[in-house]
Amino acid sequence: MEKVCCRCMKNEKEGKWVPVEEGDYKDFSYGFCPQCYQETLAEIKIATKHRYRKAAELRV
Ligand SMILES: [Zn+2]
Repeated sequence: MEKVCCRCMKNEKEGKWVPVEEGDYKDFSYGFCPQCYQETLAEIKIATKHRYRKAAELRV
C-alpha cells in the first residue's frame, strides 16, 4: 500500500517523497511526510498555546 501525505500530497516511493502523479492513486493510505509531520506538530503546539491563553482569559 502506498502512503500519501495528506498535506502536500506527496507519495512515498522507495523512501523518497515525490509529488503524486495524476492517475497514480491506487491503494494508498494517508499520512504525513517527515516535513509535514514536523510542521503539523509545530502548528498543534501553537494552537494548544492559543487555547490555553483563551481559557486563562476566560477565567479572569
Ligand atoms: Zn507532506
